Amino acid sequence: MPELRAAPATATYDEDCRRCDRLAGFLAHVRAAHPAYWCRPVPPFGETSARLVIVGLAPGMHGANASGRPFTGDHAGILLYETLYDYGFATLPVATARGDGLRLSGCRITNAVKCLPPGNKPLPAEVRSCNTFLAADLRTVPEGGAILALGRIAHAAALRALGHAATRVAFAHGACHALPGRRALFDSYHCSRYNTNTRRLTPAMFRAVFDAVAAHLAAEAPAVAAA
Ligand code: SF4
Repeated sequence: MPELRAAPATATYDEDCRRCDRLAGFLAHVRAAHPAYWCRPVPPFGETSARLVIVGLAPGMHGANASGRPFTGDHAGILLYETLYDYGFATLPVATARGDGLRLSGCRITNAVKCLPPGNKPLPAEVRSCNTFLAADLRTVPEGGAILALGRIAHAAALRALGHAATRVAFAHGACHALPGRRALFDSYHCSRYNTNTRRLTPAMFRAVFDAVAAHLAAEAPAVAAA
């Protein structure tokens, strides 16, 4: 792939963003029904200098949209946080709420779309609109780092955020796409309730992806200066 193009300067997150009229209106509707829910754009979670960034699709209604933290409080987070814990990226295997004490190490989780979409289906224009935030987020991945895209939309959004055409390389579960700077883009099926219940994505399949991610990060680990 060619070198990354410089993405527009922007923040990784804006709690007051209302760029997407449809999503802002939907959030207002959901907030009225669930006053205790977060119901705002959901910020990335984890270390700002992480070597691994995981890109999901969008907040779930009763998960991230309720808790205000990606993959926290719903079914989609069960396999993700269990696996992150097993591979040493998370301090706890379960994510229940902001303030549950869970911390990520060497890892950050973000979403291609920061606001809850109706039916878990963002429009292409909404994915494009939110891509400036994702571009700023992925720009922090250091040389030798890894991006893990959960699903086709996250894969395409990550490519776009990195300055490539969204169709430059096809999504394929288990695939690893080389990026400039010894970075790599890994693909996995999304760890959604539907995918795990139907066993389209099994824990073993997900662990195999993390085996590959961990191997990449180990091979590309920065050299430690001798004492
Ligand atoms: S989805 Fe992204 S761009 Fe659209 S309103 Fe939410 S934060 Fe803003």
